[in-house]
Amino acid sequence: MVGCHGGETPRHRTSAFVVDGTLAIDAGSLTSGLSLKDQNRLTACVISHAHLDHIRDLATIADNRLQAGADTLQVGATRPTIDALKKHFFNDIIWPDFTALPKGESPAIRFVELDIEKPVQLGGFQVRAIEVNHTIDTAGFIITGQDGSLAYSGDTGPTERLWELLNHTPDLKALLCEVSFPNVEQALATASGHHTPQTLAADLVKLVKPKDIPTLLYHIKPVFQAEVEREIAALQGFNLQVCALDQQFSF
Ligand SMILES: [Zn+2]
Ligand SMILES: [Zn+2]
Repeated sequence: MVGCHGGETPRHRTSAFVVDGTLAIDAGSLTSGLSLKDQNRLTACVISHAHLDHIRDLATIADNRLQAGADTLQVGATRPTIDALKKHFFNDIIWPDFTALPKGESPAIRFVELDIEKPVQLGGFQVRAIEVNHTIDTAGFIITGQDGSLAYSGDTGPTERLWELLNHTPDLKALLCEVSFPNVEQALATASGHHTPQTLAADLVKLVKPKDIPTLLYHIKPVFQAEVEREIAALQGFNLQVCALDQQFSF
């Protein structure tokens, strides 16, 4: 867990996770939370959607890796996300186009288009992008390695297809699920395409698999951290854990 919050303070970092040191999931804190050595060890990063809290450190990791002479970082995302990154982020205005730097050599980053539900090999894992339900085009991911599969919800409110596919993923070892707002802010959560503990619980029961599957929760808004944690603690029948910075899990 490099970053696992829905906002930033000195004690909260925006979404970024690293699997086995090589594959990053989202880039909200890849440079604020990782040493240079660990940044350069990454071979790929999958990006769920183009919101700033999930892409921001692509800017600084691309720059750092270029200076370090690191290999090209493969950046996997769906077509709408790649288009947004090219047009609004690596556009030679907000930030240089690091897909074309350094000049004449292998670039700092390279985009790899992920077709929805089509498996792609990235960072030593098989990655499948699944459409979820947020305010812009957003993917969750099913990431499969030798030891099993990990699911990442992306930013989403209630959704169906992710759970359908997970019900056909027999080696599923753990879930990384978003939850952002307390129940009292349900209208805001619904309008912004996020979960509250009550909608999360209603979604988790769509998973037919054993209810004790480890479910790690991220993207809580810092302002509501304590309130959301209290509501999560009151949910019965699941194996829920709120992610903490720099925590490590083995599956
Ligand atoms: Zn978002
Ligand atoms: Zn977000």
